[in-house]
Amino acid sequence: MTSAKPQQTVRDLILATSGYLEDKGVESARMEAERLLADVLGLARIELYFQFDRPVLGPELDRYRDFVRRRGSGEPMQTILGETEFYSHVFKVRPGVFIPRPETERLVELAVGLISPPDHRLLAPVAVEIGCGTGVIGVCLALDVPRLVVEAVDVNPAAVELTQDNAHAAGVGARVHVHQGSRFDPLPEHLRGTVDLLVSNPPYIRTAEIAGLQTEVRDHDPHTALDGGADGLDFYRALAHGMGPWLRPGGAIALEIGADQGQAVAEILGVSGARDVEVHQDYAGRDRVVIARMPDTEDDNG
Ligand code: GLN
Repeated sequence: MTSAKPQQTVRDLILATSGYLEDKGVESARMEAERLLADVLGLARIELYFQFDRPVLGPELDRYRDFVRRRGSGEPMQTILGETEFYSHVFKVRPGVFIPRPETERLVELAVGLISPPDHRLLAPVAVEIGCGTGVIGVCLALDVPRLVVEAVDVNPAAVELTQDNAHAAGVGARVHVHQGSRFDPLPEHLRGTVDLLVSNPPYIRTAEIAGLQTEVRDHDPHTALDGGADGLDFYRALAHGMGPWLRPGGAIALEIGADQGQAVAEILGVSGARDVEVHQDYAGRDRVVIARMPDTEDDNG
């Protein structure tokens, strides 16, 4: 960034930072420069345009420079700002917890379709989410499906806390219960055979591919949320192996997958007794979600 001028305005900073971040390989450099500056000044991004000549001074300038330095060294914008947008809601994020990706909105949409419209049974529908991270999937499901109770699990205590915070902030704290532990282990026993939906965006990157990911992902997302083992499919095998006792007859499954994993994950689910297995695409046209259902009754072999 230039420091030639005694006073830098909003315009100067946006221009200098856009160039700097672009050189560092940031794709939407100008947009990110604006978002970081808007955050420092407590403005909406659009409001910067009405304050182009405003000088940025003292602590605001220091804070902005710190943000830009961090972004330039590969820290994701989301952890710098402490929040991200997902499914039209704002969620808190924090370092060490997987940052939600836009393609996961497709998983939420498809999952909502599997449990709504809610039936009129006396009991509220129940979804189990394994590996909840920031909590965006479970919280969005609870927001979209009336009365839905979400039992969310994550092995990472920071994710458990963050999911709780995000659920409370969204007003669904009472319907999103978060458990720390591995996969199905921490679920309360009384849920056995009652779960209407199993949903997960599990780690699915092949171990050998992690080193080649972009800095923002490789050095900032927790590897427990990325690493799916040698073929990327370890977590799907574990979910398919463990889900049987928890899902009710006719219960649904919705899993995010890597773009080349549709067939393999469909097979893994099929072998574990799931029916109606379908692979769905994200908005970029890549395979992204597999959905399926358990048989309606135990003796239904058709
Ligand atoms: N979609 C993520 C990425 O590309 C990976 C998510 C995952 O492994 N669940 O970084």
